[in-house]
Amino acid sequence: MMNNNKIANRILKRQVVREAVLYETIGDSKVRCKLCERRCVIASGTRGFCKTRMNIGGRLFTLVYGNLSAIESRPIEIKPFYHYWPGSTALTFSTWSCNFTCPWCQNYHLSRRVPEPEIDSFTSPSHIIDLATLRGDDGVCASFQEPTLLTDWAIDTFSMARAHGLYSCYVSNGYITLEALELLRNAGMSAIKIDVKGDMEVYDKYCGCASDKFVWRNISHATNSGLHVEVVNLLVTGVNDDECSIRNVVDNHLKYAGTTIPLHFNRYFPAYKYDKPPTDLGVMKIAYQLAKSAGVEYVYLGNIPDANYQNTYCPNCNSVLIKRSSLGIIRKNIARDHHCLNCGKKIPIVGRIID
Ligand code: SF4
Repeated sequence: MMNNNKIANRILKRQVVREAVLYETIGDSKVRCKLCERRCVIASGTRGFCKTRMNIGGRLFTLVYGNLSAIESRPIEIKPFYHYWPGSTALTFSTWSCNFTCPWCQNYHLSRRVPEPEIDSFTSPSHIIDLATLRGDDGVCASFQEPTLLTDWAIDTFSMARAHGLYSCYVSNGYITLEALELLRNAGMSAIKIDVKGDMEVYDKYCGCASDKFVWRNISHATNSGLHVEVVNLLVTGVNDDECSIRNVVDNHLKYAGTTIPLHFNRYFPAYKYDKPPTDLGVMKIAYQLAKSAGVEYVYLGNIPDANYQNTYCPNCNSVLIKRSSLGIIRKNIARDHHCLNCGKKIPIVGRIID
């Protein structure tokens, strides 16, 4: 007991350790975390599923407040966001670990590492804002691993970003609770990209017994509460690349997001513990056609050689509005106020087009 108390006292002195937002005490020194829909019940001296939150003496602490694993200025198109500040760059950061267990994770060196608060270093929100300003970034973005786990620190960083005229966004698996989503929105977050992994069985089998219902609920809630939303479906060979799975995603997209929210299908490449071949290019094109013919107005294919699938086309007259390549974007038939220059249709884009 003496030893445990010593460890707890040492941890509590670290700057990356703060009392967590969103938890409740439930008796017997246990707490329930309310940050993501796992809603872990955590006994004293132990951590939740994601290992970033720890019950110390009957209170819940985050171990990743400003505990960053990466900081980099990145084009917003890489997230991908195609209808949010096109052509801009965001100072992008991440912490450690994840609340999912996807075996094909591209960033497993970040998402599978357990935070070590006794040795990990601290970055302040003000340092991030200074850095973004110095580098000429237009906004800030939490990405690379699951940003839900960084929410305590992101709330402070995003409110500071708003005060400095920078946008804020999340690149997320969408398993966050509505309470946490609202805290972020109130702090100034204006966009969220949500990864849809597939149907119920995919979430259950590959994501650590998770459920797709919370993800679609959050897509609907975020859209209706005024956040800019884009949806991504990584088509993984042998997991969710059959026509039935793709139709399921398209149907849910139309039901919970609607016709005007962009839907991206991204091509998978082998990584971490999953070594099936990259997604068949024919399957990618079938997904594109399925979504377009079902009524999704803005469909994109990522990680494929044909850049035409990354352009934004007017759903009314089919003019190229924004042309994309590895070199950046070119504004074509779209006015600065987001009208199609050919037919006048208003295109749903948030923020300035920076070309
Ligand atoms: S954020 Fe972590 S501790 Fe909290 S409910 Fe989710 S997995 Fe559990």
